[in-house]
Amino acid sequence: MKARKRIALVAHDAMKPALVAWAARNREVLARHELWGTGTTGGKVAEGTGLEVKRLKSGPLGGDQQIGAMIAEGELDILVFFSDPLTAMPHDVDVKALLRISTLGQVVVACNAATADFVVASSLFDSDYTPQEFEAAHAG
Ligand code: PGA
Repeated sequence: MKARKRIALVAHDAMKPALVAWAARNREVLARHELWGTGTTGGKVAEGTGLEVKRLKSGPLGGDQQIGAMIAEGELDILVFFSDPLTAMPHDVDVKALLRISTLGQVVVACNAATADFVVASSLFDSDYTPQEFEAAHAG
């Protein structure tokens, strides 16, 4: 992945305020990267921070699957996904599929603010990076 990361932002409804707050707190560093988001999340982050966020469909209407497709095509590097651990989702299968394709695609995934803080604080965040174990993991 290149120094300028392609980052997807997704938050379930109860977690949207936390993701907007996280993005606002990290506004300066995020502004150097390319941001994507599911429909509602992307709109709220753009509105709350002034950052440019390219919006896909709303998650339950296919947005999670669009992000999955981007990952399958090698078009995303990082997924910041504040999922709600306390509420059942109608699109739970899409959430599961998104995490599976992210794991397969060596996407950096942060499912809560603490992990997302560690990701943006990493020296790799603004550098080129090639996952070293990718070939080994797929060699069987
Ligand atoms: P939303 O989708 O940003 O459109 O609410 C998020 C999700 O539920 O996956």
